[in-house]
Amino acid sequence: MTHVLVIEDDPSIRSLLVRSLSDRGLAASSAPNGLDGLRQAVDDAPDIVLLDLGLPDLDGQSILTMLRAVSEVPVIVVTAQDDDRQVVRALESGADDYVVKPFTVEQLVARIRAVLRRAATPLGDPGLTVGELAIDPAARTVTLRGEPLELARLEFDLLHYLARRVGEVVSKKEILSEVWKQIYGGGEHTVDVHISWLRRKLGETASAPVYLHSVRHVGVRLVDPTSARTGD
Ligand code: CA
Repeated sequence: MTHVLVIEDDPSIRSLLVRSLSDRGLAASSAPNGLDGLRQAVDDAPDIVLLDLGLPDLDGQSILTMLRAVSEVPVIVVTAQDDDRQVVRALESGADDYVVKPFTVEQLVARIRAVLRRAATPLGDPGLTVGELAIDPAARTVTLRGEPLELARLEFDLLHYLARRVGEVVSKKEILSEVWKQIYGGGEHTVDVHISWLRRKLGETASAPVYLHSVRHVGVRLVDPTSARTGD
């Protein structure tokens, strides 16, 4: 059974979430503040953490950073309003997804399932190489010219997805639905943000692309720079 840890200071929202998630067949536990939440996230090893960013003791953003230092547990952050900067900062700190209050339990459960699907390691998925990039989906590792790259979860998933479609232009909409597994609209700016981080880790820039080529108003294409056919 999937264990969800809910870190939320508002007692009525907290108990509503725990009850609603339990009603839908998930095991839910909760913490009323950041430090208890952090302790439980480490000690109880939940499958996923739902983290309110507005907490009384330490803000959720700090909790997220501290949690990421010790744990790879998937995290969905909850924000009070659709604050792009807050969302981008949370994603940059290792959040896997976000929901904006008020949200429905149906939406939350869909997002929990999507994040868990994405986090699951595909068994027997063969490795693939594009030029001097080698991607091992089972180990979730990437090397460039034999040197390991440190990629966040979404960066890895994005690179892996593009590598399976090498040479093809992939739209941001498709990335949102196939990589982010997000069935709701919007959020294309988070794709741009992750592409730019990935680009930095690959040691290239948007103006001098090697592997990651943006196609204006359409999306992005991963090319094999060692193959003359795809170079343009
Ligand atoms: Ca709160």
